[in-house]
Amino acid sequence: MSTQILGIDLGTTNSLVAICDERGPRVLRDEDGHALVPSVVRFGTRGEVVAVGREALAHAVEFPRETVYSAKRLVGRSATEIGEVAARLPYRVVPGPRGIAAIEVPTSAGSALVTPQEVAAHVLARLKTIAERELQHGVSKAVITVPAYFDDGQRQATRDAARLAGLEAVRIVNEPTAASLAYGLGRPASRGPRKAERIAVYDFGGGTFDISILEISSDESAAGGDLFQVLATAGDTALGGDDIDRAIIDLVMREIRETFGAALDFPPSARQALRQFAEGAKVALSERETTTLEVGLGTGRTYRRTLTRADLEALAAPFVERTLVSCRRALADSGCNVESIDRVVLVGGSTRMPIVRREVERVFGKVPYTALNPDEVVALGAAVQAAILAGDRRDLLLFDVLPLSLGIETVGGAVAKLLMRNATVPARAKEMFSTSVDGQTNVKIHVMQGERELVQHCRSLGQFELRGIPPMPAGIPQVEVEFLVDQNGVLDVSAVERRSGRRASIQVVPSYGLTRDEVDRIEAESFRHAREDMHVHRVIDLRVNAALDLKWIETALARVRGELPAATVAEVEARMDEVRSFLAAADRDAASVDANCFHQAKDALDRASVPVHEKAIAQSLRS
Ligand code: AMP
Repeated sequence: MSTQILGIDLGTTNSLVAICDERGPRVLRDEDGHALVPSVVRFGTRGEVVAVGREALAHAVEFPRETVYSAKRLVGRSATEIGEVAARLPYRVVPGPRGIAAIEVPTSAGSALVTPQEVAAHVLARLKTIAERELQHGVSKAVITVPAYFDDGQRQATRDAARLAGLEAVRIVNEPTAASLAYGLGRPASRGPRKAERIAVYDFGGGTFDISILEISSDESAAGGDLFQVLATAGDTALGGDDIDRAIIDLVMREIRETFGAALDFPPSARQALRQFAEGAKVALSERETTTLEVGLGTGRTYRRTLTRADLEALAAPFVERTLVSCRRALADSGCNVESIDRVVLVGGSTRMPIVRREVERVFGKVPYTALNPDEVVALGAAVQAAILAGDRRDLLLFDVLPLSLGIETVGGAVAKLLMRNATVPARAKEMFSTSVDGQTNVKIHVMQGERELVQHCRSLGQFELRGIPPMPAGIPQVEVEFLVDQNGVLDVSAVERRSGRRASIQVVPSYGLTRDEVDRIEAESFRHAREDMHVHRVIDLRVNAALDLKWIETALARVRGELPAATVAEVEARMDEVRSFLAAADRDAASVDANCFHQAKDALDRASVPVHEKAIAQSLRS
């Protein structure tokens, strides 16, 4: 076993640590289950560190001059360069050794000087502790990411920070490169040399926006794989989700003043509450169409309004447009046109906003990669790079073919497979599904992986809902489900209801969290259970169809009972009872039902009910 190397995303606001083992990359969490460590450090009266991360952030307002955040904006830069940045920070930034920016924190003896590297080192040390706790062994090496535009001084300062934290930075990797690696772009090619690919990495966070255009080419000499070249970067170090929060706050304050009079003033604490609340509303509107804003103003007055996604998008549009301007500039600088960009990767929490995804898709003319958590993707990629360097990434799950079948859950808990195991990638499949209940307006699409026939024996890859289908009888809506696996193994599942044009989709990386051993085990189990699985699947299908038949016959019989001979009615009812008992048995335990007998009972009911249908049709024609 080679020494484990950590992958670290050392962010301006938050930092994360990840590792990549035989299950692929994953982020590590602290004892409370948090992956994100706020990049915040608070210093005490002797200049010592008293809190790091979440705890330091929680009391930042009480200790404005002792709490250092956004130190990454200062790392490796001269005090004169960052005058404007420094002016917006509540702590004091002063020239340190060799004119490099440092932070002056108040102490009981006067003040102490702290370098941004030292601040970063405390954050790195926290990440190291989190990793060691979870891995239960010591670690001393890491791959650390930095923005593509960091210069040599800033990269060196990042290495220094690592050394102070007891970590050797075995490589400093560009953030957009790491994000690409997380999606398997530019991995050591398992299928020989590939054509050069161009990737746009769109990174929209809380306070900064970056766009990078990368080119990946096969390079025999590059250790462990392909060569990533940054063709161009652009962005804005003062543009992010925070601006959108502020636009919501401004709207609320304006409306409050209009409604309750101009005299109303907001203390800073109320503004802070308003900020959290504006962010909450923004986040909620990434999932929902509307949310309610409610602010108690004291003396029984309450400001209340509904904020729709359209309202939010109107507020966000100018900021999103600014990101697009940068995108166009980066494209121009790189000498690429939009058509030559092969992939677009989304990074940063603000890319969860539907307007952002839509606009990026519009500008680049392709669906961006969104399968991975946009907060984690850089750390995951750093871990992939770490594993490549450690030499223990055997790339077990880089397949030219699908290791396991992919499908969706159908009524009754069975799995309909759309793409079969061993299909070569890229692969595409389409299938038509419908609703199972009258008037159903939402359909859940549950994406499954595995060889067995039932949901409970397969792996869930994710689910989504197609909403807003016009109410129609069961079986009438036509929902087309499409599976598309691209050559990097990213699966895109989309569902469209034909009549209404309603559409929804999800992206997943099916190979994540899966080991070669597991693939083998799943395959072996599917062989072992093939017979019983087929049996259960057949019973489930019979159950679904029989239930639909019963419903039909019950309705028709209620209408035409009086027109039929008593003996016919009695015969039909007896057959219905028999089928009902099979349904009940199938619900209790599908495996124990004799599928042939069930089939015969259903056939017998179908035959016996012919006169019922004839009468019902005749009656319909008459009326
Ligand atoms: P980052 O700097 O990448 O951690 O991104 C943080 C920013 O993403 C903040 O402005 C958050 O409000 C924003 N954000 C996080 N989740 C969502 C979401 N679901 N919808 C919209 N914005 C989000």
